[in-house]
Amino acid sequence: MNYATIKNCDIANGPGVRVSLFVSGCTHRCPGCFNEVAWDFNYGEPFTQEVIDRILNMLKPPHIKGLTLLGGEPFEPQNQGAIVELLRQVKATYPDKSIWAFSGYLFDRDICSGRLGDTSEYLSYLDVLVDGPFVEAKKNLSLRFRGSENQRLIDVPASLKAGEIVLWQDWQGQGKGLRK
Ligand code: SF4
Repeated sequence: MNYATIKNCDIANGPGVRVSLFVSGCTHRCPGCFNEVAWDFNYGEPFTQEVIDRILNMLKPPHIKGLTLLGGEPFEPQNQGAIVELLRQVKATYPDKSIWAFSGYLFDRDICSGRLGDTSEYLSYLDVLVDGPFVEAKKNLSLRFRGSENQRLIDVPASLKAGEIVLWQDWQGQGKGLRK
């Protein structure tokens, strides 16, 4: 896997101050994509153990609330192995820091169905998944942590436990915690 960017002070992609990893490679090609250069799987730099060590170091300060995975597409089958290895090490080192991921795939139709391979270990590390492609016709700048109204903020542990999608209820009580 290659990656495009790492941000060590991101406040836009999940609660609190976070480290964000933008991976390379995405096959969705959403019109209006915010990060078109990262569609190419060869864009950016190789994702190595040295990069994982750098991320672990960035996550160390107590004010960093967690790690967010974006792209590109973190659930492309060819990206999953490197990300699972990263998440293994992050969770072993910082079990209380949250993990968020953004995907153009759908949680139920694509990710849990096995269509993208066995995602069970990957999902076991996630707290929230923002799913679905960016749809320009549904773009809404007032939405928190997502670009278009079709995208869902999914509470992954609660959804896996319930066997149905449970939306994430945010810490300020602005989410409704609705079930679909
Ligand atoms: S899924 Fe994300 S990175 Fe991929 S084309 Fe759509 S908006 Fe761009």
